[in-house]
Amino acid sequence: MIYLKTNDEIELLRKANLLVSATLTEIAKVIRPGLTTRQLDRLAEAFIRDHGATPTFKGFPNPYGPAFPASICTSVNHVVVHGIPNDVPLKEGDIVSVDCGVSLNGFCGDSCYTFCVGEVKSEVKQLLATTKEALYKGIEQAIVGHRIGHIGHAIQTHCEQQGYGVVRELVGHGIGHEMHEDPQVPNYGSTTSGPEIKNGLCIAIEPMITQGSHKIGLLPDKWGIVTLDGRMAAHFEHTIAIYDGKPHLMSSFDTIEQIEIQKR
Ligand code: MG
Ligand code: MG
Repeated sequence: MIYLKTNDEIELLRKANLLVSATLTEIAKVIRPGLTTRQLDRLAEAFIRDHGATPTFKGFPNPYGPAFPASICTSVNHVVVHGIPNDVPLKEGDIVSVDCGVSLNGFCGDSCYTFCVGEVKSEVKQLLATTKEALYKGIEQAIVGHRIGHIGHAIQTHCEQQGYGVVRELVGHGIGHEMHEDPQVPNYGSTTSGPEIKNGLCIAIEPMITQGSHKIGLLPDKWGIVTLDGRMAAHFEHTIAIYDGKPHLMSSFDTIEQIEIQKR
């Protein structure tokens, strides 16, 4: 069942998501070759707890294996999503998708950004740029009167036109008291598919886009999702709320992007 939020609930959702964005900004400040994803996880967990919140991902159950052991997902290169932080140092030219979720005052935040480690190949930069553009093209479609399918249709069209793959098995979602609520928000579809978009709808939109084939596999750790062809994957995610007939960002990439510009 889709649970539409009140204005007061949307303000709480915004606070949780801004904390996620602040956490990802802390990661943007430090990410560089030589650092490990476990170090990023420790930094993120401390930052989240220092702000009175809990990392939603830590202990998240898995029907196929152990619960998620960390506070963020760190998915490097051909890992699409759900990468478990580890002690392997990041290298120049890597990309790492950092997905972060927090619970604050009973509401969840959820956002993801794919970072470059040092200088990456121009073809990889293009994958990241297209995935981020697709996210915003999807968000633009989240207006009252449209269907959820409008979002996925815009994302799929933008990415497939440029020869990229759209992962089918993983989708965006409603968000509120729970991190995953109805409805599902696929990154593909048609303008006649899915429920109608209404004021009070709060969703996470999260294109997972591959350089090659969209086919995926599961790592032996039962968490990491990888591209089967070993090519790179990108993941950008915003939580949005629909009110006054149109979409409003709850999370923000502004401070991350400022840091990226300063690093150039
Ligand atoms: Mg996420
Ligand atoms: Mg999500």
